[in-house]
Parts: sequence; C-alpha cells; structure tokens
Amino acid sequence: MRDVCIVGGGVAGLAAATYAARAELDTLVVAGDESILARNASLENYPGFPHGIDARRYLQLARDGAVEAGAAFESGRVVEATRRDAADLEAGFELVTASGERIEARRVIAASWPDSEYLVPLDVGRSQRGHKYFVAVDEAGRTAVDGVYAAGRLAGEPHQAIVAAGHGAKVALAAIHDAGVPFYNDWVAPEGYFTGRGREVPPACEEIDEEERRRRDARARRTMLDAFAEPLDEGPTMHPDVEGR
Ligand SMILES: Cc1cc2nc3c(=O)[nH]c(=O)nc-3n(C[C@H](O)[C@H](O)[C@H](O)COP(=O)(O)OP(=O)(O)OC[C@H]3O[C@@H](n4cnc5c(N)ncnc54)[C@H](O)[C@@H]3O)c2cc1C
Repeated sequence: MRDVCIVGGGVAGLAAATYAARAELDTLVVAGDESILARNASLENYPGFPHGIDARRYLQLARDGAVEAGAAFESGRVVEATRRDAADLEAGFELVTASGERIEARRVIAASWPDSEYLVPLDVGRSQRGHKYFVAVDEAGRTAVDGVYAAGRLAGEPHQAIVAAGHGAKVALAAIHDAGVPFYNDWVAPEGYFTGRGREVPPACEEIDEEERRRRDARARRTMLDAFAEPLDEGPTMHPDVEGR
C-alpha cells in the first residue's frame, strides 16, 4: 500500500508529490490528462522567470523534480475512491482507474481539477458553483474525511499556477504531519548552520559542505541549460470549444 496517492499530475499535484516524496512518503501520482496550464501561451506571473517561461516546459520541469524527489507516476484517470474497510478508519483507501487498476493508499491528495466525481463515494463535501464542483477543506487542505485532502483549484484556490503550486505543497505538509513523519522545514543549509551552534541537524534538513554545494549548483545549472536550450515543438492546447479545432 502506498503512503500517499495524489490524483492529478498538474500544478498542485506535482508540488504535493515533490514535498511528500522528499519527506520519504511512498508517493504515487495518478496523472490523467494534461494540466489546464498546458493551454497557457506564456507563463509570466510565476516568480523566478523574469521574462516568463513556456508553461509546458514548466510542467515538465516540475514533473522531473517530483520524479527526482522519488515520486512514482502512473497514467490514468481515477474513477472511484472508497474506503478499504468501512469499519476500520485506519485501513486507508482504494482508488480505481478507468482501465480497472486498483491502487491502495493510506492517504489521498485530490489535485484533479476539474473532475472530482470519483470522490462522491467518500462524501468529502463537494459544493457546486455553476457547472463546477469544489471540495471543502480546512486551512491545511484536510477534507471532512480523515486521510483525504484536496489541493489547488479543486479546493477553491485562486486560478494562478503559483497559488496552486503553493497550495499543493502546503497540503502535502499536512499529509506529512498526519503520517507522523519527523519533519522540520525540508531545508538544505550550509555546513555548520545548526551544528556550529551545538544543535543537531533537524529531521528532514541537511547540512552540506562547500564542495557539495558547488557540485549541486553545477548539476542544477546543467539541468536548466539543457531544459532551455531549444524551444519546444508543442504549443498551447486550444480550448476545445473554439471552432475549427
Ligand atoms: C488558457 C489558460 C491560461 C492560463 N494562464 C495562466 C498564467 O498565465 N498564469 C497563471 O498563474 N495561471 C494561468 N492559468 C491557470 C493555471 O493553469 C491553473 O490555475 C493551474 O493549472 C491550477 O492547477 P491545478 O493543479 O489545480 O489544476 P491542473 O494544473 O489542471 O491539474 C489537474 C490535473 O488533474 C488531472 N485530472 C483530472 N481529473 C483526474 C482524474 N479523475 N484522475 C487523474 N487525474 C485527473 C488533470 O488532467 C490535470 O492534469 C491559465 C489557465 C488557462 C486555462
């Protein structure tokens, strides 16, 4: 059984996956179709990119980061989520995909905007606005059902990528906390930052020396230079209702 299954490999799901996997939770992302962000023509309000970034390149880099952190991915659309044992609230959840695959997980982070029909059997508390359904969550992204969380647009967050990413990360922190993982901030600090003050390096933190810092910087620069070397072939996906598409 997985520690956490994230439904949706879009902006919020990829951030949640990165955080959960870095906290060493056994993390699976079930990714349906593309993120709505694939329709964007130039992503210009995501901090860190002064002249913007091709949104598809951002999505690929975010996915690469989640994989690097240790998250596993499966393509598929989740069609049903239920408790494994209605009498045992600790028994976790079973997710069924459109192709009939069954996935077991102790925790579920729904990051699947706009499709959340699969949550109906769990009675998490969905509300309708127009033709869209949102899931009610508390400040940390917990739904009415223990062990089930919602992140990003599905949780009613504003419609910007950085907000969805931040919310995905924040919701994963709640899942990490609820899983009982010893955790403190997930920081990489220079050697001596904690130990130089006689403190232990806190859980989920790391001290690295200057040689290791330079090695990681070189690897990071290589990755980004490769990623940005050429324009992508694929452009934005047009809205399906636009005529002639
Ligand atoms: C044309 C356009 C331009 C935009 N431009 C910008 C911009 O410039 N700046 C900005 O900040 N934001 C922009 N946005 C908004 C941004 O794309 C969203 O706010 C953000 O993608 C929301 O993230 P999310 O993770 O909630 O949803 P998504 O990124 O859409 O991720 C949800 C994922 O879940 C998957 N999924 C759905 N149902 C299931 C299921 N049952 N099982 C498995 N997977 C499932 C979907 O296929 C998708 O991959 C734009 C959006 C559009 C449409």
